[in-house]
This record gives sequence, C-alpha cells and structure tokens, in this order.
Amino acid sequence: MARETRQFQAEVKEILDLMVHSLYSHREIFLRELISNASDALDKMRFEELQHPEWGGSEEEKHIRLIANPSEKTLTIIDNGIGMTHEEVLKNIGTIAHSGTKEFIKHAKEVKDRPDLIGQFGVGFYSSFMVADRVTVSTCKAGTDTGTFWESTGDGSFSVEERTRPEGVGTTVTLHLKPFTDDDSVEDFTDEHVLRRIVKKYSDFIAWPILMMVSREEDELDAEGNPVEGKTKTVSEDETLNSRKAIWLRSPQDVTDDEYSEFYKHVAHDWTEPLERIHYRAEGSQEFTALMFVPGTVPFDYNYRESKWGLSLYVNRVFIMDHCEDLVPTYLRFLRGVIDSSDLSLNVSREILQKDRQVQAIKKAVASKVLKHLGTWLSERRETYEKFWTNFGPTLKEGVPNDFSNKEKIEELLLFRSSAQEGWTTLPEYVKRMKKDQKEIYFITGESVKQLESSPYLERLKVKGFEVLYGIDTVDEWVMQSISKFQDKHLRSITKEGLELDSEDEKKSKEEELKSKEQEFKDLLETIKTAVEPHVKEVKISTRLVDSPVCLVSGAYDPSSRMERLMESMGQAVPKAKRIMEINPSHPVFGKMKTLSTETQKQWAEILYNQALITEGSPLEDPIKFSKQIAQLMTQVQS
Ligand code: ADP
Repeated sequence: MARETRQFQAEVKEILDLMVHSLYSHREIFLRELISNASDALDKMRFEELQHPEWGGSEEEKHIRLIANPSEKTLTIIDNGIGMTHEEVLKNIGTIAHSGTKEFIKHAKEVKDRPDLIGQFGVGFYSSFMVADRVTVSTCKAGTDTGTFWESTGDGSFSVEERTRPEGVGTTVTLHLKPFTDDDSVEDFTDEHVLRRIVKKYSDFIAWPILMMVSREEDELDAEGNPVEGKTKTVSEDETLNSRKAIWLRSPQDVTDDEYSEFYKHVAHDWTEPLERIHYRAEGSQEFTALMFVPGTVPFDYNYRESKWGLSLYVNRVFIMDHCEDLVPTYLRFLRGVIDSSDLSLNVSREILQKDRQVQAIKKAVASKVLKHLGTWLSERRETYEKFWTNFGPTLKEGVPNDFSNKEKIEELLLFRSSAQEGWTTLPEYVKRMKKDQKEIYFITGESVKQLESSPYLERLKVKGFEVLYGIDTVDEWVMQSISKFQDKHLRSITKEGLELDSEDEKKSKEEELKSKEQEFKDLLETIKTAVEPHVKEVKISTRLVDSPVCLVSGAYDPSSRMERLMESMGQAVPKAKRIMEINPSHPVFGKMKTLSTETQKQWAEILYNQALITEGSPLEDPIKFSKQIAQLMTQVQS
C-alpha cells in the first residue's frame, strides 16, 4: 500500500491546535499518556496470549522502553504490546473523533486553564504535540506481520503507509521534540533525570517494567581488580524506572494519597482527583483484593448509553479484562478500580463471567462492602457524602427497585430535598422530625425544587406543618413507588387520591362543613364536570388546597402525570388514566362563577382545567385556544 496523506478529522484538528499553541504548563503529562497507552497495550496482549498459546508469548519479555537521544532531540516510547492494524491506526489516531474528542472540544476553554484535564477526554495520544513538532508511530498488530507507519507534524494532516516494523509486534512512538528554551520552563525530555522523575511521579505503579538504558561512569580496574587512579569507563545498563508494585496488593498504610491518586487516574482514565477510595482484602469463601474509587466528578460520558463501566479484573496480578460489568451491580456503576481474585481461573471469558458463581459471590460481597462504606461516609463525613450524592445519587437510587436484598440498606443512604429545610435530608432524619399527629411520609415528584416549592399540592401540608420530600430525579418515580414503607411509615404521594391529612377528630368537625360546601356547589360542580368530562373522571371538592383554585389528582394506583410523560418520552405506550379534578370552594373564583351563565361557567371550567395542567407541569392539549380564552377574559375586566 502506498503512502497516503490524510486530513485529521475537524475535531482532532482543533485539539491539535490547542496542544500546539495553547497549552504551556503541565507539558510533562504527555509521557504519562503514552506510557498509559503502552501499558494498556501490554495488558491486552497478555489477555490475547491466553487465548493464543501458539504465539508463545512470554511474560518476562513484556516491557515499555524509553530511548532518549539528546543529540537528535528525540524521545522514543516502545512497547511490545498488542499493536494496531492499519484500520485501527486510522481510527484511533486520525480520522475518527470519538465521543471523548467531541466532548473535549466543548471543554476546550476549561482545559486551557486546567491542562491536567486533558486525559479525561481520551485524547491522550495527541498530547505528544505539546512537546513534539513531529511524531511517528510504527506499529504491528499481534497475529499479523504487516506493519503500519504513521507520521504527522500536527498541522492538520498525517500520512500512513505500510512499513514493516523490524521489532515485530508492538508499537514505537517517536517524538521529535520542540526546541526548548530556559524561559518558557520547558524541561529537556531527553534528560535522564527528568524522565526518571516524571515516571516516578505518574507511572510508578504501572505493572510492566519501564526500562531505560542509562550510562554511568565506573572506575577502571587493574589486573588485580583495584581502581586505577584517574581512569574511568562508561558503563551502560538497563534501569527499571518504576517500582511496579501492584498498588492494590500493598497494605493501605503503605500507600500514599498521591500514589492512590495516580493509580486512580490510570485505571479510570480520568485525570481529576478521586473523591474517595475503598481498599480491602476479602477473606473467606471468596478471596480477593479490591481497590475501588468514587470519582470526584461525573465522567463526561457517564450517561451515554454506550459508555463503558465496570472494574478491571485481575487474577493473581494477571490482568484479565477491563470494564468487567459482572463484578458490581449496575447501580454502583460509578465505581472505578480493580478486583484481583485469588480463586478465579485465568481462562475466564466475558461469557463465563456472567454465569460464574464465584463472580456472583464477589459481586455480592463488593456491593455490601461499598454500601457499608457509603453509610460510614454519610454518618461521619456528610460533606463528602453529599458531594458523592450530587454526582452519583441518581445511580445509587436505582438499587431500591432493583436490588431486593440490599433495598433497606440503600433506603438509609438516600438523600432528598425537602419542604422543611435547605439542603439534603435522609429518611431517618425526616422520620425524627415528623409531627406527633403525622402518620405518613409525604413526597411529591417533579422537575425541580423550584417548581415543587410553589406547587398547590403542598398548600395544606404547609399549613399543617407537615414536611414533604421532593423527588426531582427521573428515577424517583420508580424509587418512591418501590419504597412503599420506611420504618413502618407509608410513603404517600401528595398528588394522589386518598391523602388524609386530618386526624379523626378534625375530620369529624369538618364533615359538616364539607357537606354544606358540596351542597352549595352541587350545580356548579355538575356544570364543570360536563365541561371537562372528556378529560377527567371526577370533579370534587378539595381538602388539600388553600390558595389555589384547582388541581388534578391521580388515582391511588394510577401512574402520576410525570410518570406518564416519562414513559411516553421513552417511547412506551401508556394508557392514559383519567384523573380527578379537585376544586377549592374557598377560592373566590367559584363564588364568582356561581353568578355566571352556564355557558360562561363551562368556559371557565375549561380554563381552570388547563391551569391545573400547567401547575402540575403537563402540556396543554390546545394552548392556542387557552391563550385566546385568557385574552378574552382580560378584555372583560372593567377597571
Ligand atoms: P485513550 O488512550 O484515552 O483511548 P489515546 O488518544 O491516548 O486515547 O489513544 C487512542 C487509542 O489508540 C487507544 O485507545 C488505543 O486503542 C490506541 N493506542 C494508543 N497507543 C497505543 C499503543 N501504544 N499500542 C496500541 N494501541 C494504542
């Protein structure tokens, strides 16, 4: 195949432009990125070799090598990992901008100020252009013998051609370093000491040896083995720059925060600090070591359907696979890190994992450990927990409807916004604050705290001093329904039928009044009903409103209006349950209405129905008609 020149994809160009012209600090991280890629390639190679014993791969030979050439001003990073095919080269470092790249562009401004964010977006390789004005990649994929050579000066185009890689399978990245000057604080990346420091700082835990040929002066020896005065010789030898300690197998007391943090950045492909970590060794029926982290920020692709999650799986230090989704329940998918099992077979595949009893036992043990830790953070480090909750609370909540065995534990961990106070509250805290005459836990679901705060459904509860929990995440519709009871107290939606706020005595004393109201408004209720008949199943006097004229209430067992909208937005057909329209007889609008003609009463009834739809956040069936009706009403105002 002849040499061909191609244009970088537009987004990649933008990234390169940023690398070349804007990022002047933290340039040294390019090495961390390239070493991280090489280490991943070696991990993948080892895994492939397990399936291909005929390749005769050997553990001992695997390494990453740095070759610095001060006179040529080049730095070369070599690995004998999995390598890339021609297509993979084009895809990974060239034409296709993966989702991460696009996201990176969105955050370009932020990155200009915080270059340490670069790696988070999966654009690691391009950071080479922060320090180099020409980069070449020579690679050969395992199982093939045709190599690919890639080259670019980072100015918008790159070239690729078929070219044998003399060393065989693996990848060589050569950076032709930009000239450096003392005043722009760029270090000499061909300097042994500089490289040693950078590797130690960012890549010490990498499991594969990072080798570099170093030279040192040694005294020359005479025939008897004694140093010869004034005579030295240069000796070259390989030095392993990293300690290679599998960090998770070390005792937590011996690992520093910085070491944990660098390791996290490597496994999570995130270069921001983790929020918390859980590091322990499980003994008993399943023996494994777990080192897991809760990220400090929500990964940019966290909510993409195709985004990968899951922990990295090792068996006795041997990397098996990353993104192993069978080691943690879906509702803990924010966790990043590794599980190293002593019991699993090295030949596990993704298919086997799903059904493996040992893996299921690990998953169960991990879930219960993580929930326990979350409980401790909640009670001992509230601020940290709230940070966690803001980022990943909606994910954890999914456990309530989905993990029956841990449901109660997760319920204790839930945080809610509420009508009683600013900030977050837990269910146990809510129960402690409950009024003596309050029998149930009240909640309402909606789009935002702001919208819910002024909701008419809250009016009477506010008067009674009853606290209401706000469910503002989509998943709350399911979560609230499946909690049903907490500490023997029913959870009650305040937008549904059957809300009993009064005690027996209060009810009795109000019965008379309610009856007389019903009598007083009997005809009007009938007229309203005929006007809104197609939309609602009943019109009745409300006991839950104070200031608002009307509201719509769902049947006790019907889905809420929000649930209906959510299901619709997911493309699921939901039979529309008709709701009940409740009217507030104390509102002056009904006194006035009684004096009007039946025709006008009907028109007003329609307006009121539409108002009720608006207050609950539902779309109007005919907004144009509604606005005309309002305009017409306005023209009738006398003064
Ligand atoms: P990331 O590593 O975050 O995915 P990069 O831009 O650093 O992003 O690399 C893009 C892809 O190129 C990698 O995911 C990997 O598939 C491939 N790649 C990079 N370096 C190597 C290497 N040394 N060996 C094999 N594949 C590599």
